[in-house]
Amino acid sequence: MERAQGSSSPRSAEVLAFVGLGSNLGDRQNNIRTALDLIDSVSGLGVLGVSSFYECEPVGRSAQPDFINAVAEVGTSLSPRSLLKALQGIEKSMGRASSRRRWGPRLIDLDILLYGEALVLEPDLVIPHALMHVRRFVLAPLCELEPDIVHPVLGLRCRELLRRLRSGMSQARFAGQSVRVAV
Ligand code: ADP
Ligand code: MG
Repeated sequence: MERAQGSSSPRSAEVLAFVGLGSNLGDRQNNIRTALDLIDSVSGLGVLGVSSFYECEPVGRSAQPDFINAVAEVGTSLSPRSLLKALQGIEKSMGRASSRRRWGPRLIDLDILLYGEALVLEPDLVIPHALMHVRRFVLAPLCELEPDIVHPVLGLRCRELLRRLRSGMSQARFAGQSVRVAV
């Protein structure tokens, strides 16, 4: 997309974090862009870089529309929990129903993937995101931004995690833009 690609540095006292974005309802690209603008507008949270948009088949429940997924690199002075609350507030403000099935269709899904090198293991907040290392639609865009970022639990670089996932990545055109397709 047109935003700054790649990485920049967070301000001092800010933590570098990564947010996964997904949408498979309505105008999916627009939903992702709106969420990015809302993330950037939160005090103590700034978008430093955004990956390409990836069109992906749904994981978990396959009888639903394909997703557009992306990853944003953010600098934040919020705590992990405050960041989660801010992201959940954005999901709500965009009209995502709170009582819906896990892995079901959603207007917008915002997940904290990494928060610096922090490890969080609480009932409602797990960082690094518990499934990020097995999801191509997370690792491919994350690698675009920071291929050398290390998963703080597994001790492996993002590029190595992606390499370990089998199968390839093909290119496709979507809505006039180049979109990578995770297969
Ligand atoms: P999905 O797993 O498909 O993203 P939801 O978005 O409905 O499903 O998230 C379900 C719950 O996951 C949320 O209520 C939230 O508390 C919890 N959760 C745990 N770890 C994280 C994380 N790293 N980022 C976002 N949500 C998380
Ligand atoms: Mg989520």
